Amino acid sequence: MAKPLSILFVSSEVVPFAKTGGLADVSAALPQVIRELGHDIRIIMPKFAAVSDRKFKIHDIKRLTDMPIQIGDRTLLGSVKSSFLTNIKTKVQVYFFSNDELYCRSDLYVDPNTKKAWPDNDDRFIFFCRGVIQTLLLLGWRPDIIHLNDWQTGLIAALLKTEYADEPLFKNTKVVFTVHNAAYQGIFPKASFEKTGLPAKMFKQEGVEFHGEMNLLKAGLMYADQITTVSPTYAREIRSSEDYGFGLEGVFKRKARKTVGILNGMDTAVWNPEIDSLIPQTYSHTSLEKKQENKKALCARFKLPFDPRIPVIGIVSRLADQKGFDLIKEKLVDIMKMNLQLVVLGSGEKHYEELFTKTAKKFKKKVGVHIGFDEELAHLIEAGSDMFLMPSKYEPCGLNQMYSLRYGTLPIVRATGGLADSVEDLDEKPKAGTGFVFTEYSARDLVDAMQRALKAYEDEKLWQSAMVRAMKKDYSWDSSARRYIDVYKKLLKKK
Ligand code: ADP
Repeated sequence: MAKPLSILFVSSEVVPFAKTGGLADVSAALPQVIRELGHDIRIIMPKFAAVSDRKFKIHDIKRLTDMPIQIGDRTLLGSVKSSFLTNIKTKVQVYFFSNDELYCRSDLYVDPNTKKAWPDNDDRFIFFCRGVIQTLLLLGWRPDIIHLNDWQTGLIAALLKTEYADEPLFKNTKVVFTVHNAAYQGIFPKASFEKTGLPAKMFKQEGVEFHGEMNLLKAGLMYADQITTVSPTYAREIRSSEDYGFGLEGVFKRKARKTVGILNGMDTAVWNPEIDSLIPQTYSHTSLEKKQENKKALCARFKLPFDPRIPVIGIVSRLADQKGFDLIKEKLVDIMKMNLQLVVLGSGEKHYEELFTKTAKKFKKKVGVHIGFDEELAHLIEAGSDMFLMPSKYEPCGLNQMYSLRYGTLPIVRATGGLADSVEDLDEKPKAGTGFVFTEYSARDLVDAMQRALKAYEDEKLWQSAMVRAMKKDYSWDSSARRYIDVYKKLLKKK
């Protein structure tokens, strides 16, 4: 094997330590697979309150205790602790950057009382970014690649290109910056820029300035050696219009040649109908009839009558605008006239929670709703539904459509981001299709796709062959991790 690479993976959330979204799943799965492929990869994240020393067997690193770090004219002390991310095959070292005052709070980014971002998020992530660099300097570790993720880590790219441009330790280090969701950018007032310690000349359009404020996602984009996003289609979309780029579409456009989209993988140890311990009946593409047992259990769970001729459509989602629920709302009357049953698991924006709760009350035999977060129920919905609905306005990658494919639950999706890259339309490609895809973000086209799905469902042979195809698709992490390694290697070859 060629020489193993050394990589520092920087992320603000990693499963099982702390999670608010898909970033945490990627930040655990990808490093583990890269480690399995023989490379030296370590992770660093802030030590939030949820990261319990006892539970995760975390210990101090003596020489990385009480490091003084400057934020504006304040000096705070940061310490690094360490533990491991372990699975059956491998162990990845995780560094936790800690400062109780800044990170030991009930929520990662948002104050649960005000529902607004913590007012000192600028300090929290300036401190983290400086702390990451300081940690490397004190360790004397010279990674080939520093892999940054999302705005919380963007400042590191800018600091390495300025304050640390002549630092011998980083002479051969390349920086990769991955965008998991361009809607979250880490925008702060100009006063926050002053606290970063970046040279004043960087507060301009060609630098980190964004309409008179500082934008930390932009910092990552402007100063990283390589940009990646979590699906090829999303990589194109974010440079196409404001609907996807949220004001940074121009920057994405300029950086197009430095950008590559790599589809996330899914955790096939957790999401696998053949061994899933959270569902009543395991099954595979050679025993499709067993899936019916899960459908029965799902209907019973929501007190819906079970009828093999009526398809059950599942939804598991954050109830947010991004996910396309306004389209469903617009055509709810028409949808309720269709021959289907709908089960919804989700929480989020109140008006969507109310919409689904009310609909379930009105259509007791047709609609089942559970407001909340429930891992076990999510598995039952994937296993028991016939179809899965994801009409997203935008979707950087999306995981649920991949789970659905694996469970033979044909997805109905809008052709955006990772949805476009993982689902093929059955009407367009009767021999290759795995779901139903509509392109324009309109309620009419959503209804049309649902009607096409219902019609296809009536043709048992056609449906079962599509199920088998969907279940055989491989969206495991292995091939995506290899693509990241290719990106790293190509970058290191560049002078
Ligand atoms: P996003 O990261 O935008 O929320 P993804 O499809 O990438 O969307 O990932 C969402 C993850 O969260 C999936 O694993 C999904 O099953 C899970 N999830 C979302 N809402 C719920 C819920 N209410 N209960 C259980 N799991 C949920």
